[in-house]
Formats: sequence, structure tokens, C-alpha cells
Amino acid sequence: MALLTGKSALVTGSTSGIGLAMAQALAAEGANVMLNGFGDPDAIERTRSALAEETGVSVGYHGADLSRPDEIEELVEAAAAAHGPVDILVNNAGIQHTDRIEDFPVAKWDAILAINLSSAFHSTRLVVAGMRERGWGRIINTASAHGIVASVEKAGYVAAKHGVIGLTKVVGLENAGTGVTCNAISPGWVRTPLVETQIVALAEKHGVSVEEGARLLLGGKQPSLQFVQPQQVGAAAVFICSPAADQMTGANLSMDGGWIAQ
Ligand code: NAD
Repeated sequence: MALLTGKSALVTGSTSGIGLAMAQALAAEGANVMLNGFGDPDAIERTRSALAEETGVSVGYHGADLSRPDEIEELVEAAAAAHGPVDILVNNAGIQHTDRIEDFPVAKWDAILAINLSSAFHSTRLVVAGMRERGWGRIINTASAHGIVASVEKAGYVAAKHGVIGLTKVVGLENAGTGVTCNAISPGWVRTPLVETQIVALAEKHGVSVEEGARLLLGGKQPSLQFVQPQQVGAAAVFICSPAADQMTGANLSMDGGWIAQ
């Protein structure tokens, strides 16, 4: 039997990038998965059905907007209705905006805090008591190297990700010894749509090709000069769900090519 056969997993922001890779990794271990996120409906349906076909598990999709607490509640209910109460919650949805603080649009600040931080509070508060009653649960928050160190022009993102790491510690402590763990994974640069925008902006700023922009982006922060692969983050999520990680809680797992070691 696979490691997570029959578990009910909910992965927010899983229509692309890191979230999709985590959903794929959990499904490959036998968990039934509820996907969430935005995108072209046909493309999402292709992703959903391909994952179900490849892994043989049940894969659902719910398009809740995670900036809205009422829709997060609907998402958690939909996951439970499809696959049973949530056993594995991955809080992964996130957005980015870059501007100096004096120019940072208030609406962008509010959206980043709502999607990157408050959504994890809401989904966690809705599932954690049930996990405790059943004596097993895994809450995995996608934080970031920016949850530990800062960069210019990322006030909203850095504040939210530092908050995610703080929230992770509180939930870990409140549930220590119950079978429910809460941990963060903090990737460095992963080449997803969220980062591609920043690569293109950097390339334009320096008048270089997109690939040269990618090298500049890595060179600025990530000593390995290599992108973290989404599949590596997926494998870390599976590790956190394994018995080897039973005593890992309130922790942050950095996967950043040496970024925060500097
Ligand atoms: P991505 O843009 O590929 O994925 C973001 C996902 O969130 C998508 O599925 C998108 O539809 C979803 N989403 C956005 N707004 C939403 C909303 N309001 N409601 C529901 N879903 C919403 O980006 P990614 O890089 O895979 O980002 C995933 C997570 O990883 C984010 O939390 C991000 O901050 C974090 N992260 C990314 C990197 C990186 O280098 N790419 C590094 C560290 C952390």
C-alpha cells in the first residue's frame, strides 16, 4: 500500500507551479486530492483528469477565491464531501507584487495578506479540530526564503511570509503530541509563473534576454545558481506526511540553494 492511501488532501493554489507538484506527489502516494486555484477551466479539467488517470486516486477541483473566508469554508466542505474530512492541508496559494512601500497599492497589500497569510489561518481553523479528534493530521504551509529574510520592494510578500512562519509555529505548538503537525516549506527561486513575471521584468530592466534575466535573478540570491524544482517541493511534502516526520512540528524546511545561509 502507498504511504497515504485513502487520506483526504486539500492543496490550495494547485492549478499550477509548486501547488500542482505537491498535489501530484501526494496523489502518487495514494491520497485523494482536492485541487484549487484559478486558470482556464478547460486546462484545469485536463490537469484534474490527467492526475486522476495517472495515479488512480480521486481528484476533485474547487475554484474558491482564497481572499474570501466564506469561499474557503466552501472549499473545505467540498473537500470533505468528496474525500472525507481533510487529513492533509497544504496552504500554498500565493501572489506577488513588487513596489517600494511608498508606491505599494493598498489593494495589493490587502490581497497579498489575505491570500498568502489569512487564507492559511482560515483553512487551518476549519480543519484542525477534526484532525486532532482523529489523531492524525498534516498541515503544510508554503512559506518562502522571504519568510526568513527580506528583499526590497516586497513589503506585502515578505510580511505575509514571515507571518506564515509565525502561524506555523503557533499551530505546531497548540497541537504538539496529538498526531497533528504543522510545518512550513520555504523554497528559494522556483521557476513558476509567479517568478517568470519577475524574470521578464529583470531582463527588460537590464536589456538582456529572458534566460540571462533568469541567471541574474539566481545570481542575486541563490548561491547554487540553480532553480529549485517543483517536484523537489512535492517530495518534501510527502516526507512531512511520512512517519519519519512525526516529531517535526512548528518547523521550517528551507530548500533554497543556500539563499538564507548567507
Ligand atoms: P503560481 O503562480 O504557479 O501558483 C499560484 C497558485 O495560487 C495558482 O494555482 C493560482 O491560481 C493560485 N491562486 C492565486 N490567487 C488565488 C486566489 N485568490 N484564490 C485561490 N487560488 C489562488 O506560483 P508558485 O510559485 O507555484 O507559488 C505557490 C506558492 O509558493 C506561493 O505561496 C508562493 O508564494 C510560494 N513560493 C514560490 C516561490 C517561487 O520561487 N516560485 C518561492 C517561494 C515560495
